[in-house]
Amino acid sequence: MHNNQDYSLTSFFIDQLESKQISFLMKENDIAVKCPFHEHRGRKYHLNIAKTGKKVHCWSCGWGKGGKTWNDYAEHMGLELLSVEQIDKSKFDSLGYELYSDLHSEEMQEPYTQPLELDWLRYGNGPDLPKDFLLKFHAAQYYDDKAETYRIYLPVYTDSELLGWFVMWRDKEKPFRKSINAKGPWVRNTLYPIDFISPRTHTAFLVEGQYDALRLIFGNVPALSFLGVENWNRQKVQLLRDYDFNKIYILLDADKEGYLHTPTMYNSLVDYFSVTVIELPENRDPGSLLKTELNFVKKLAIQYKKEHFIKIKNLEKKVFTVE
Ligand SMILES: [Zn+2]
Repeated sequence: MHNNQDYSLTSFFIDQLESKQISFLMKENDIAVKCPFHEHRGRKYHLNIAKTGKKVHCWSCGWGKGGKTWNDYAEHMGLELLSVEQIDKSKFDSLGYELYSDLHSEEMQEPYTQPLELDWLRYGNGPDLPKDFLLKFHAAQYYDDKAETYRIYLPVYTDSELLGWFVMWRDKEKPFRKSINAKGPWVRNTLYPIDFISPRTHTAFLVEGQYDALRLIFGNVPALSFLGVENWNRQKVQLLRDYDFNKIYILLDADKEGYLHTPTMYNSLVDYFSVTVIELPENRDPGSLLKTELNFVKKLAIQYKKEHFIKIKNLEKKVFTVE
């Protein structure tokens, strides 16, 4: 959160954008516009102009890498530049940004993948996300030299553009984590797998992990992962609005982190969507639901979609309360 925002600077940017009829989205720390440096297929505002004017960066094509400022963008668009004094003030931050951008590009190096031939194995119980299902999500496999084992690679798209990727473990032993995200800011800008969820449903179950989302989709539940509780933000709320969702279920892991995070999410969504929180019994997560359990949750969700809160106390005995 930036409490030191210079509002006169923000209004300068807005005046400038409006003078050229450039439409924009106001965000917490940025003003987002359509990127003039890459061809658009979607409707997204990819270029983020920091309200400080010190950073301008496109999270789709990567323009701005190395520390572009308002003036670089303004020059391209024929807008008014900021004064020399204001630019001088920004030097320190630009340096920090350059380091950050270099890190970002290095971490985005993709592994060398091969077509997926392996089945997904879960804790030694055999495949529960069949290969054919994973292939719909453009899954591939690669050999992890360090761990001496195969991993499953999954690309992440938004508006048909590749933003990032993650890796799913494929171990017989219970893994420490089921999946891991490629590092980089892309995790803050998408919901997985938003391009694969039919917009006609207008309904989404928001879950923490990508694996959870895939498991639910496999059970015919339209689910989206926000890539971990630390990556929930307003951009994701905007994305849900852009994709015309209107019914949102919040279905987090029933652990300390999930309990802590649920009210924050609820509050950020409730002004724009019909929102229902579904709380699972303690220590359960959506990805671990058996088929019968998932069907029960799905039925409850539909039946009580007008309620704010469904607490499931016992899945086996089907004990729940609604508020
Ligand atoms: Zn771009």
